[in-house]
Amino acid sequence: MQVETSCISWQGATDPRGYGRKGKGTREERYVHRAAWVRANGEIPEKMQIHHLCGNRLCLNVEHMVLLTHSEHTRIHAYEKWQPGGALRERDWTR
Ligand SMILES: [Zn+2]
Ligand SMILES: [Zn+2]
Repeated sequence: MQVETSCISWQGATDPRGYGRKGKGTREERYVHRAAWVRANGEIPEKMQIHHLCGNRLCLNVEHMVLLTHSEHTRIHAYEKWQPGGALRERDWTR
């Protein structure tokens, strides 16, 4: 997976994990990257998570995001810990 467009970085507030937030409250929908995904692609199915292909948690470019299950998401991050970028080369996550 090649990320060919550039990141659109959120300039506002972030939460302790480094994700962009807007407004108050604790609902996940307030995460700005989730809001950007919903605007572009519609509702996020229950239990699916957004992964940033670009690794930039503040990025709002939906071309840089893929939906993964929790287990896939955990796996890709565990894999990337010991081989940065490796998981992206191994599989085209947009398919
Ligand atoms: Zn990005
Ligand atoms: Zn991720």
